[in-house]
Amino acid sequence: MVCEKPDQSIELNSVLHQQKCNLCGGSSTPVNTLFLLGLINCTTYKCDNCGAFFRFPLPNEQAVAQYYASRYFRYSDKIERTMAERQGQWILQALKQDGIASDTVNYVEVGAGRGWLVSFMQNQGTASAVGYEPDSASVAWGQNTFGIDLQKGSWMDALQSEDLPKKGVFLLSLVHVLEHLHSPLEVLQELKKCYHDPYIFIEVPDARYEGPVMELDTFPKSSMGQHFWSFTEQTLSVVLKRTGFSVIAMEKDGDFRFWNNRLTTLRIWKDITDLYRGWNCNEFNLKQGAISSLTILCRCLFAGLKTRMLRLQGHGCNRLDLPIIRVLAKAVPPSL
Ligand SMILES: [Zn+2]
Repeated sequence: MVCEKPDQSIELNSVLHQQKCNLCGGSSTPVNTLFLLGLINCTTYKCDNCGAFFRFPLPNEQAVAQYYASRYFRYSDKIERTMAERQGQWILQALKQDGIASDTVNYVEVGAGRGWLVSFMQNQGTASAVGYEPDSASVAWGQNTFGIDLQKGSWMDALQSEDLPKKGVFLLSLVHVLEHLHSPLEVLQELKKCYHDPYIFIEVPDARYEGPVMELDTFPKSSMGQHFWSFTEQTLSVVLKRTGFSVIAMEKDGDFRFWNNRLTTLRIWKDITDLYRGWNCNEFNLKQGAISSLTILCRCLFAGLKTRMLRLQGHGCNRLDLPIIRVLAKAVPPSL
């Protein structure tokens, strides 16, 4: 029996067809295959044009909803409060520079979690503030803790909203939501249609730093599989332009070291996998095996030490350090 070591790059390029990037329309290159969320065999692609990463095919929406129903995750109150304050202050500053005062803003957040940002905006004196969140426990917590208008529902429920305020401007907000959606462009278009010439605030992980993790992390059911898309600044600009928005302000935030530990672990794991695959192919050599094992052990120890040092220094180690891109955009009226 002949044992063949698969070369993933050759395998991917020869077997898989190129997939068009639905975000910008550019061509793309497959970078790995994985059993996404334990639901479907799919491929991760990198767009040759805008630099986005994306998965295809995706599991159906019902299966994804069931996946999330069995998971309930939250960060600490301190982290969620700080994130909301950073986002809220940035939004209000960007709106102010565009001549919009907070008391004229009708704030509508989709995927609002426990409502920290809805609460922040309400406390800043917005004309109105409402959030939609699919998770019942988060909704109950937000309603009881903040006394805010937090409703159980998804982006589709935000389209069904009745008695929309007649005065002021709408500000739609999608914070770490776009990367989880099946069709980001369609959702933005539908929201824009429903709310009259809205502003929109989007925050997503930065593909420049998240992309390399998506390339290496092929573990079935890895939480990284929850991200169907990873956006660059260029991707966001193109997506917003294609859906009829004009960018007002955009910024990057976070610490580039955030993903380092995860990347190191994934690289070590890949080398261990390759090593054992070689041994299974009768390439085992006692001396080389001992050297390789010792090398990997040293890398593990060094990586652990480095992580501990960074934690002690407080660099790049908590959720607040995640490299992100945030953008505020304004709907372009159809006549223009
Ligand atoms: Zn693209």
